[in-house]
Amino acid sequence: MANRIPRVPVREQEPAIRATNFEEVCLGYDLGEAIREASRCLDCKNPRCVAACPVHIRIPDFIREVAAGNPQGAAGIIARDSSLPSICGRVCPQETQCEGSCVLGIKGEPVAIGKLERFVGDWKLDHGAATAAAAPRNGGRVAVVGSGPAGLACASDLARMGYGVKIFEALHKVGGVLVYGIPEFRLPKERIVAREIAEVQRLGVEIETDVVVGRTVTVDALLDEEGFDAVFIGSGAGLPRFMGIPGENLNGVVSANEFLTRANLMRAYDDAYDTPIHTGRRVAVVGGGNVAMDAVRTARRLGAEATIVYRRSEKELPARAEEVHHAREEGIEFRMLTNPVEVLGTDDGWVRGLRCVEMELGEPDPSGRRSPVVKPGSEFEIACDVVVMALGTSPNPLLAATTEGLATDRRGCLTADEQGATTRPGIFAGGDAVTGAATVILAMGAGRTAARAIDEYIRSRR
Ligand SMILES: Cc1cc2nc3c(=O)[nH]c(=O)nc-3n(C[C@H](O)[C@H](O)[C@H](O)COP(=O)(O)OP(=O)(O)OC[C@H]3O[C@@H](n4cnc5c(N)ncnc54)[C@H](O)[C@@H]3O)c2cc1C
Ligand code: SF4
Repeated sequence: MANRIPRVPVREQEPAIRATNFEEVCLGYDLGEAIREASRCLDCKNPRCVAACPVHIRIPDFIREVAAGNPQGAAGIIARDSSLPSICGRVCPQETQCEGSCVLGIKGEPVAIGKLERFVGDWKLDHGAATAAAAPRNGGRVAVVGSGPAGLACASDLARMGYGVKIFEALHKVGGVLVYGIPEFRLPKERIVAREIAEVQRLGVEIETDVVVGRTVTVDALLDEEGFDAVFIGSGAGLPRFMGIPGENLNGVVSANEFLTRANLMRAYDDAYDTPIHTGRRVAVVGGGNVAMDAVRTARRLGAEATIVYRRSEKELPARAEEVHHAREEGIEFRMLTNPVEVLGTDDGWVRGLRCVEMELGEPDPSGRRSPVVKPGSEFEIACDVVVMALGTSPNPLLAATTEGLATDRRGCLTADEQGATTRPGIFAGGDAVTGAATVILAMGAGRTAARAIDEYIRSRR
């Protein structure tokens, strides 16, 4: 199923230039490029790409509109299934989802579905094209905890059904990981995230920031005193993990969450802001996921020599292929099959390096990935001034601890069924708070599924 037209390359900032700035790496398609790329789509009768999209965006339908030079029509089609196309077009792991299943990928290159989605989303933001409207109010009210992709998707679907929706967000900015985690050079905050969130607010969704549900107000108070008919919890998984090795308490060891929050939310890279961020000359980032790539590329842009330390091989790197490719282009060093066993310190308590062991791959573990095992006698040191731990995160226990009857599993994730119903009637949950750290599109999908379940729950009680 080859296509004679090659995939239209997307313009990007030159690696040597972008490694010194926080501007967006990928510049996206213009209309002509988007039309050419869209014309590669075969408009399959049984589109495998749609089945592989967690929110089932009608991919061939929107691509057909792009090919016809009608981005407005394409935006309308995407809006039926996704309220955040500019964001998803930038950060979704398309290579394992829609593009990974595109029939053109069998013998050649798949259609650049993500770049086309991004083009349509940006076109809509730039042209102020309204694509979805709130339904007349139906009298129901829903509280949403957290303004990440799960909360935003749930809120916008409920608003479109006619519910009065209010989002409560603990931080001073709206967007969850989209604003505090994923860096500006991958996802511009003002130009994209803030404007896509404004679209959600345009549907009538209210947002209150600086409210820590479980502290400022409890979930029970929202239901019993504030008159909400149901609550959706989309509080994410922001609690960082550490390795538990000697030396982790030294000055200069930070979690990726803290490092990225300082850089993104608190804009430490911008001279107009006072936020301190310490990199020294050399930064070692431990981990191999998207979070690790974001941290190491941020460190590089802050002027450090930056290295990834990962215990498996290149093949097992969980980060998106595009991020690994971009990191390499920007001069990031990769120390694969390497595991730290101790953080080494100076006499005055600062990091001076990592003691590591070499690893080799043994038998596959339950996830199918080959487990790394230590090579005997292989200890060596890596000199560095800062160690960033990017080893994964878990949900914050606050909401489960302050809400009677809300069960969690052994990882601390909220227990919820496939529709998002928790163990307490009227309380629903989705996104990273339920699955543990996952992806933007899965969080959005969970928010949308829960919105339908919340609608059924409220209607069943009338
Ligand atoms: C650095 C980084 C890079 C990533 N890169 C990618 C990527 O490239 N592609 C991808 O698909 N995914 C990526 N992810 C994962 C993705 O961002 C998450 O899976 C997704 O954001 C989860 O959405 P969510 O709505 O469940 O939670 P979050 O985005 O975490 O949002 C939860 C929100 O709830 C708020 N909150 C928490 N507790 C409370 C409370 N008690 N009261 C009020 N508010 C509360 C938090 O402040 C936060 O704003 C990345 C994650 C990180 C950290
Ligand atoms: S699988 Fe590929 S070619 Fe077929 S409809 Fe989807 S994007 Fe187009």
